[in-house]
Amino acid sequence: MEQQSGWTVCVYCASSGSCDPVYHEAASLLGESLAAAGCTIVYGGSRNGSMGALANGALSKGGRVVGVLPRFLQQLEIEHASLSELHIVDDMRMRKHRMLTHSDAVVALPGGCGTFEELLEAISLKRLGLYLGPIIIVNIRDYYAPLLALLNAAVDEKFMAPKHRDMWTVVDRPDEVLPAMKAAPRWSESSLKFAVL
Ligand code: AMP
Repeated sequence: MEQQSGWTVCVYCASSGSCDPVYHEAASLLGESLAAAGCTIVYGGSRNGSMGALANGALSKGGRVVGVLPRFLQQLEIEHASLSELHIVDDMRMRKHRMLTHSDAVVALPGGCGTFEELLEAISLKRLGLYLGPIIIVNIRDYYAPLLALLNAAVDEKFMAPKHRDMWTVVDRPDEVLPAMKAAPRWSESSLKFAVL
């Protein structure tokens, strides 16, 4: 039996139900593997798209799944009815804050601008030593290649330091997420010293 990890993992992913099903399958597999390892998943709380698939995958393995949904989105994104906990919050900023603050690691699956925004905020906070955990980017179908190219360009153009590349880890498949979380380079509050070039 796999060792129970006890990690609380914040997962950012798409609300879209119209994307290729391969993305929903990846979300479901990620939910299953994190739940099987004893992780608690914190996510956006919706039953739609990759978010719903993630939650269903985790719940199918008896996992603990915590949703954080802003009140004004309850009708649009539709809350998942079977979560371990659902927190209804006032706005998007509170949602993002609540999702990240109590998490030991962040995982980004493919998604739209909401997922980009959440992922880039986690990276920005980590650069400033305000978030210290692993950030794992799941690069299904090489979806994140343009964003990774842009992050590398930021380093090449000296908007960021080469050491900043240690802030995130890229994997190709959901089953690689847990090992990548465990192997992620350590990061400390002293990163503030090299935050600005
Ligand atoms: P998307 O990847 O665009 O489908 O968005 C994924 C999720 O992120 C959706 O639930 C959005 O409502 C959510 N989202 C978008 N912008 C923000 C934000 N600024 N703070 C928190 N959640 C957001």
